[in-house]
Amino acid sequence: MTRTADPYRTSWLAEFTDPRLEDAYRLHMQPLQARQLRVALYVWGSLILVFGLLDLQHLGWTQTFLVLAACRIAQAAMLFVLALVLRGRPHLVSSGYAVTALEVVGFFLFLPIYFLRPEIATLTVGVIGLMLLAMFLFIPNTLRLTLFAALVGVALTLACIVINGRSLEVIIGAMFLLGLPTITGFVAGQQLHTVQRKQFAMFNQVQIANRALKKEVERRKLLEEELKRQATTDPLTGLFNRRQYEMLFRRERERCRRQGTTICVAMADLDHFKKLNDQLGHDSGDVALRHVARLLTSQLREGDVVGRFGGEEFIILLPDTDVREAQTVIERLRRTLEANPVPLEQRTWKLTATFSVSAVLEGERDIAETLRRVDAGLYQGKHAGRNQVVVV
Ligand code: GH3
Ligand code: MG
Ligand code: MG
Repeated sequence: MTRTADPYRTSWLAEFTDPRLEDAYRLHMQPLQARQLRVALYVWGSLILVFGLLDLQHLGWTQTFLVLAACRIAQAAMLFVLALVLRGRPHLVSSGYAVTALEVVGFFLFLPIYFLRPEIATLTVGVIGLMLLAMFLFIPNTLRLTLFAALVGVALTLACIVINGRSLEVIIGAMFLLGLPTITGFVAGQQLHTVQRKQFAMFNQVQIANRALKKEVERRKLLEEELKRQATTDPLTGLFNRRQYEMLFRRERERCRRQGTTICVAMADLDHFKKLNDQLGHDSGDVALRHVARLLTSQLREGDVVGRFGGEEFIILLPDTDVREAQTVIERLRRTLEANPVPLEQRTWKLTATFSVSAVLEGERDIAETLRRVDAGLYQGKHAGRNQVVVV
């Protein structure tokens, strides 16, 4: 059995082994790290200046103090400048080179104190040890660059001690004093960086799962809408199918009853439709049916319902409409149909329809009862010469 490699693996330097993932992590952390680094730089710079007061207390206004003060001011200035620069360029924190360079230069500017104040040399080495630990814990940078800067710091400090001609014993002691915080800092940094990357991995996985879920929800919504459309409409004309207009009829009739208004039902049957089919083919017949569906729908109000009864017959429900108004509306439909022949491939074809309309009566329990009366009106209209509206 082969195990698939964990895409979120980290190296001993606590970086993602996948460079693209590492870049994404750094980009994700950039705003937070830029803020943390700015705070660290201000604190670091301020401490350097504050400790200058101890120099003054001990050395007085001497040339040695001025040299040390110049080093401290230069160091603090560099730190403050980087903090300001970071405001507009947070990407500087992600690469880490700027802050690493600053750390290295910082060691060069800090170490003169070792020679200028030899009486506190041991303390200086101790402070450098603390600085090494702080670099790993408080200065956001990659572990590899922090390690590099720390090793430069250790090497420079040891070089100073050697140049100063101190005994082997002192050198070994200093190695402990500097090595211990470096190792502790490195291990703590390793844990910190690994935990942060693990959190990022989890955040990433949740985001991926969320995106997939959102997509699935959208897909299902579309599917549901499509299913609903298929279940409620006639595929050829897009008009409501029988099940849907019967349901809408029940709902609207109930509402009209409650509100004391009238609901009317009309039927339309295209005249001599068979002739169109016979002469121009079934496909042209379908085009004509779609044309009629569009015309009927476009002429009616929002709350009106147009359904396909079957074949070339249509149902129209007119809620909140009395029979006189309904007659006017249906008459308008008849004239619109007459005035808009259907454009077919070779020619246009004049379509007319016979309409029958009626108000739903009090005792009629379902649409079938009303339709029986309306259908009789249709029959009447056909016999009376077609292309007319019959009120029953
Ligand atoms: P009239 O109603 O004026 O008496 O004449 P008609 O020719 O319309 O009469 P009839 O109801 O007998 O014919 C209806 C025709 O409608 C029959 C069929 O060819 C056509 N038809 C029904 N459904 C469809 C359809 O879905 N597509 C097409 N192209 N034609 C249809
Ligand atoms: Mg018919
Ligand atoms: Mg017909």
